[in-house]
Amino acid sequence: EPGLYIVATPIGNLGDITLRAVDVLRACDGVACEDTRVTGKLLKHLGISKPLWRYDDHSEHRDRGRLVESMRTRAVALVSDAGTPLVSDPGYRLVNDCRAEGIPVTALPGACAAVMGLSLSGLPNDRFMFAGFLPAKDKARREMLEELGGIDTTLVFYETAPRLLKSLDAIEQVLPHREVAVARELTKLHEEVRRGLPHGLRAYFESHPPKGEIVLLVGPPIPMEASEADADILLRDALATLKPSQAAAR
Ligand code: SAM
Repeated sequence: EPGLYIVATPIGNLGDITLRAVDVLRACDGVACEDTRVTGKLLKHLGISKPLWRYDDHSEHRDRGRLVESMRTRAVALVSDAGTPLVSDPGYRLVNDCRAEGIPVTALPGACAAVMGLSLSGLPNDRFMFAGFLPAKDKARREMLEELGGIDTTLVFYETAPRLLKSLDAIEQVLPHREVAVARELTKLHEEVRRGLPHGLRAYFESHPPKGEIVLLVGPPIPMEASEADADILLRDALATLKPSQAAAR
């Protein structure tokens, strides 16, 4: 069937490609991708050979228009280098244009580093906010953390190894009491999740320079129920010590 197929690909372990993804990649007329070498390798591994078209959201408007028009008669798969397209990856303008032009769009779900990091972290997940990459500049990074830190949810960021220490340092300054998780090399040989307070994690990664790909998570402000429970205990203790002196006063 003609149209656009948004296809998630593995984030490290090639076994994580879905059966449907393989079917669609095999049946489609061509694949729009970020990097033709990366996608070429994946297709080769799957024994599939297809025309590959480089796509990013900054591509010329005309090129995107042609691609969208072609989907009236052709099935086009959109993939990223890794994971789910449009999650800090290209595709937004393409999907938007397809919708505007009445081109059928569907998605084949699969690996997504943000979601896997959230599941593995064990941080509260009843609500969470995916916030992409933190800004590269110190001041902008701190301001972003101040702004997002006021929201009562777990925060999920994409991170790079060279920047992790700077981000942990900023979290230590802005949100020093929040639980943090660093989820590294997910689905790969050296998969690792570390959880702790910003200070401890910064110290750890200072002596163990991180490598590879990273999802950084910040837990929500102290949950309300916990502080109410603490207050109950404090109150009970206070009453217990108050009684004898009240009795003495009488
Ligand atoms: N769209 C992709 C997805 O759904 O996972 C994410 C693309 S984004 C440009 C790349 C970032 O995703 C990396 O910098 C890292 O933060 C995260 N990431 C990708 N693969 C990862 C992995 N195997 N382990 C941890 N983080 C990963």
